[in-house]
Amino acid sequence: MKLIKRVTAREIMDSRGNPTLEVDVTLNDTSCGTASVPSGASTGIHEAIEIRDKDLSRFHGKGVLKAVNAVKTEISSLLVGKNAENQTEIDQLLINLDGTANKERLGANAILGTSLAVCKAAAISVKLPLYKFLDQQNHTYSMPVPMMNIINGGCHANNGLDFQEFMIVPQSAKSIMEALRVGSEVFHTLKNILLGLGHSISVGDEGGFAPNLKSSAEALEIIIQAIEQSNYKCGKDVSIALDCASSEYFSNGLYELNGEGLALNSEQKVKFLSDLVGSYPIISVEDGMSEDDWDGWRKLTAAIGSNCQLVGDDLFATNQARLLKGVNNNIGNAILIKYNQIGTLTETLNVIRAAKLSSYKTIISHRSGETEDTTIADLAVATNSGQIKTGSLSRSDRLAKYNRLIRIEESMGINSPMAKPFC
Ligand code: PGA
Ligand code: ZN
Repeated sequence: MKLIKRVTAREIMDSRGNPTLEVDVTLNDTSCGTASVPSGASTGIHEAIEIRDKDLSRFHGKGVLKAVNAVKTEISSLLVGKNAENQTEIDQLLINLDGTANKERLGANAILGTSLAVCKAAAISVKLPLYKFLDQQNHTYSMPVPMMNIINGGCHANNGLDFQEFMIVPQSAKSIMEALRVGSEVFHTLKNILLGLGHSISVGDEGGFAPNLKSSAEALEIIIQAIEQSNYKCGKDVSIALDCASSEYFSNGLYELNGEGLALNSEQKVKFLSDLVGSYPIISVEDGMSEDDWDGWRKLTAAIGSNCQLVGDDLFATNQARLLKGVNNNIGNAILIKYNQIGTLTETLNVIRAAKLSSYKTIISHRSGETEDTTIADLAVATNSGQIKTGSLSRSDRLAKYNRLIRIEESMGINSPMAKPFC
């Protein structure tokens, strides 16, 4: 048995220069798994709770020493001596120890960091790469198609763009390496176009440019130019995906698109998005409507769900009950998977399984606050998720995940075809 010998944690720094939690789990054979926890900015209200110290004398209140302490005391006492190969049981013990519906007592950050570190320690102990350990039954792995966020807006930048993410999807690439080459070429062409137009080429939280554009249409036109100038066919080689992050600007029944100078009710927002999808090569729209606007979501799905991927991020919050509500009401057709929204690896794997059973697409995702931890790359391969969303072609916190995929692809050789989620 792979018994847990030691569980400890510390504060480390994330990509925004805020503290986050890192957990080490050591087994009796000295195998040690280390995992760090990402953190969102456009956090949904249905997410499990990330505990921050709120001590304004440290890190503007964002310290995570309470979560560190929870790992070092209660969680460590519970897990030392347990079998690390029993992930489901470990995660259930953590859920029971916390005892709340949204993990607010110990903190989803303390629980998730531990859950992931246990898994990584067990994988090291049995000498399997993490993606193989995560799904030892799956002999037909596929590489996820990346959604690369090359223009940042919303609360990830301080420009006039209401929508948070404008992504490119190199959908016809034959390998991860080729997908990254396409992404990189378009990204650098975009940089030159922005420079030529006199725009800033500074980047936002996820490494995409954050030019001061005023409308979605303006951003889309510039991206199309970048794709074409890079000698790729729009809508064939490279398509576009949006994350509208609508919960961020939904207030009193209105979607307040300040950059566009518009305040739209649900029907008008559906029309706005339908027109965009009809006019541009957009194959995926995330959080087109707000996290509790179920009726608006239903209308959006009825309007464009048959020809566009509609992804629930804040809407589903990686939560199986919310996903099933969506499935039962014909809402959305894809789910964004962020493990810190739910708080354990087991619950994450269960949501992915439930989505697949309901023929919903799955996209494994980073958060806007990240570290060098690359677990999501392995998770995307292990679960045949089909797609991964992990930022732009700049900033090492984003590239670390892409580089991990390159290494996985190399180690699998011909047994690593690209997934085909858009066929
Ligand atoms: P967040 O943004 O990590 O700031 O929540 C990512 C997303 O909305 O997909
Ligand atoms: Zn989102």
